[in-house]
Amino acid sequence: MSDLIHYRLDDGLALIGLDRAPVNALDQSMRAAISEACERAAADSRVQAIILYGVHGLFSAGADITELGTDISLAEPDLPSTLVRLTEIHKPLVAAIGQLALGGGLELALACGYRIAEPGTRIGLSEIHLGLLPGAGGTQRLPRLIGAESALNLILSGEQIGAERARILGILDRIASGADQLLDEARAYAYELISCSAPARPAEVWPEPAEGLPDDFITRYRAEHESRWKSRLAPRLVVSALESACLLPLEEGLARELALFKQAEASRQSKALRHVFFAEREAACIPGIESDLPLRKIEKVAVIGAGTMGGGIAMSFASAGIPVVLLELSGAALDHGLMQIRKNYEASVKRRTLTAQQLEQRMELLFGTLDYGDLSDADLVIEAVVEKMEIKQQVFRSLDEVCKPGVILATNTSSLDVDAIAAAVSRPQDVIGLHFFSPANVMRLLEVVRGCATAPEVVATTMKIAKRIGKLPVLSGVCFGFIGNRMLEPYAREAHRLVLEGATPTQVDGVLTGLDLNMGVFSMLDLAGIDVSFLIRDSNRTATAHDDSYCRLGDELYAMGRYGQKSGRGFYLYEGRNRQEDGEVVALSERLAADLNVSRRSISDQEIHDRCLFMLINEGIQLLDEGIALRASDIDLVWINGYGFPAHLGGPMHYAEHLGLDKILSGIQHHRRALGEYGEIWFRPASLLERLVAAGRNRIERL
Ligand code: NAD
Repeated sequence: MSDLIHYRLDDGLALIGLDRAPVNALDQSMRAAISEACERAAADSRVQAIILYGVHGLFSAGADITELGTDISLAEPDLPSTLVRLTEIHKPLVAAIGQLALGGGLELALACGYRIAEPGTRIGLSEIHLGLLPGAGGTQRLPRLIGAESALNLILSGEQIGAERARILGILDRIASGADQLLDEARAYAYELISCSAPARPAEVWPEPAEGLPDDFITRYRAEHESRWKSRLAPRLVVSALESACLLPLEEGLARELALFKQAEASRQSKALRHVFFAEREAACIPGIESDLPLRKIEKVAVIGAGTMGGGIAMSFASAGIPVVLLELSGAALDHGLMQIRKNYEASVKRRTLTAQQLEQRMELLFGTLDYGDLSDADLVIEAVVEKMEIKQQVFRSLDEVCKPGVILATNTSSLDVDAIAAAVSRPQDVIGLHFFSPANVMRLLEVVRGCATAPEVVATTMKIAKRIGKLPVLSGVCFGFIGNRMLEPYAREAHRLVLEGATPTQVDGVLTGLDLNMGVFSMLDLAGIDVSFLIRDSNRTATAHDDSYCRLGDELYAMGRYGQKSGRGFYLYEGRNRQEDGEVVALSERLAADLNVSRRSISDQEIHDRCLFMLINEGIQLLDEGIALRASDIDLVWINGYGFPAHLGGPMHYAEHLGLDKILSGIQHHRRALGEYGEIWFRPASLLERLVAAGRNRIERL
C-alpha cells in the first residue's frame, strides 16, 4: 500500500486516509493510491462500508495544478475513470470532509454515495478560476444532486461555500459537531447505513436536473450572461456541460464533459490563468529574505488622513479584526471620514455581505484622533495624506517623535520618492511604501515599495500583514509611479497621442475593452479624475520636458474644469454612469493637432492595439531590467489586479510572450520610423527586449 494512504480495517469499515501534504492534491500517484485502496476494500468481504478522509484533517483541494496541461494530467489512473469505478463499488462510500473539498476534491466526494463534513469546511468547484470546468463528473453528478440551476451557479462562480449552505443545497448529508468529532461521526453514519442496509448510492435527487426550469433555460442563460463573459471560453464550456447533464444519460454526459474539459485544458486562456495562479505563489518569495526571518508583531495600526484612501485602508484592517487609530487634521475631516466608512459598511449590510452586528464590531475597532500622542503604541503607521512631499515629510517627522522604536512607517504615496520620505526620519530602515489602490477596502493589489534603506524584516512583515487583510502584495523598487503607474504612463501617452492623430476616445477604449480590459484608458482617467492625473503629471514635468505635446489634451480638459465622471464631463459626457462621445473633445483634439502640427488621419484598430500595448509591455520589460520589478509575473499581477488587465490573457508580460517578443520589437521599431519626431522620442525599445530577441528568447526574464 502506498505511503500516500493510511488504510485501516475497523470493525466492518475500511478507513482510507489521504496523506499527501499539504492539501491532498490528486496527482497521478494519489489517484493510483486511492484506486488501489478502494479496490482492496471492495474486494474484502469483511468490509461493509468505506470511509474516505484526510489524515491531517483537510480532505482535498483537488487536482495537482502542476500536472495540468501535461501528459500526466489525464494519465492512468485518470480521475474521471477512477471516480466512475468508485461509484460502481457495491458498498456505501462515505466522504468525511475536513476543511476543504475543492475542485477534484469535491468531485471525489460526489463520487461517494454519502457526505459528512466538519462545520468549518469550505466546498466548491473552483476550476473556472483556472479557465477549466470540472472534468471528473462535477458537471454531471452535481446537477443530479442539487438541480441544474444551483449547480450552474456554483460552478460558474467558482465560489467556495460553507458547510451549512452546502447542506441546505443538498451537497452534504450531515455536518459533524466539530472537526475533532468528524471521523467518529462518519463512522457512526457508516454503521447506520449498514444497519439499515442502505444502498451503495442513494437514488438521484434530481434524475431530471432541469425539472421545473423552462425549456429554453440554457438558451436564455447564455443570452443573459454572454456579454459578461467577454471572450472567456470556460464559462461557455461549463454551460455546454450542464446542458449535457440536462439532456443526456450520465455515461454520455460524462464523456461529453471530458471532451469539453480537454478543450479547456488545451486553451490559451487556461494556460494564462495557470500562469497567474503560480505567479501569485511566487510573488511572496523575495530573494534574500528567508521564510524563517523573524517578523515584527502587528497588533495595532494607525492611519494618517481619513480621506478616500485613508478611510479605505482603515476599513481593510478593521475588517480583518485589527484595531486602527485614524488621525486627521480637524474634527470635521475626522467625522466625515468615519461617517464615510460607516456608509461603506452600511452598503455591505444592504447587500447582505455583512451583518449589522459585524458593522458595529468593525466600527468599534476604529478610533479617531487629532493627537499624535495617540499613535505611541501603534505597530504600523500608514500615511495617506495629500500627495505633497513637504507635507508627507512633515507627517513623518511628527511620527518619528512620537512612535515607539520598531514601528513600521509606511506611506501610501502613488508617485513620490519613498527614499526622500524616509530621509525625513531618524529610522529610514523602518520606512516602506504601501501603495493601496482605490477603493482601498475593495482592491486586492498592494504594491509594497522597498526603499534603499528598508530593513528585510520590514518588507517581510508588510508582505505578511497584507495577506492577513486579504490583499495581494507585490514588491516594487522605488521609481516614479512604481510598477503600475509607471507602466500606465506610456500606455496612456499613446492613447492621448492617438486621439490627437485622429482616433476618438471611444475608438481607443473600444480596442482595449475589445481585448477584455475592464476599462479603456479614457474611461479609467475619467473615473480616477482628470485633476488627479494632471497633478501627478505636473509633479513630474521634467520627465516630459522634451515633448509634452501629447499631454496637452488632458491639460486642457483640466483647465476647462472637465475632471471626469465627478464633474459630469471629461473625455466623455456623463449622465450618471452612462457615457457618450463628446463632440467638444473631438473638436479640441483637432485644434490641438493643428497647433502642434500633428497630421490627422484615420487610424486602424490594429495600430491602436499595437501602440498602446507595445508601449505598456516595453515599459514593463524596462522595469524588470532596472530591477524595479523582481520578475515578469509580478508585473502581470500588478496589471491584472490593479488595472483590470484580463487574467485570461495572463497579464501584459504573458500576453507579450504570446504575441512574440520579436513581433513586439519590430512593431516598436516600425512606429519609431513611421511617427517622425514623436516616434524618435518615445518609441525606444527597452534594451532587455533587444537583448532577448537577439538571443532568440521569447521568455521575459533578466538576461
Ligand atoms: P484625500 O484628499 O481624499 O485625503 C487626504 C486626507 O488627508 C484628507 O482628509 C486631509 O484632511 C488629510 N490630511 C491632509 N494633511 C494631513 C495631515 N498633515 N495630517 C493628517 N491628515 C491630513 O486624498 P486621497 O485620495 O485619499 O490620497 C491620499 C494619498 O493616497 C495620496 O498620497 C495619494 O497620492 C495616494 N493615493 C491615492 C489614490 C487614489 O486613487 N485616490 C490611490 C493610491 C494612492
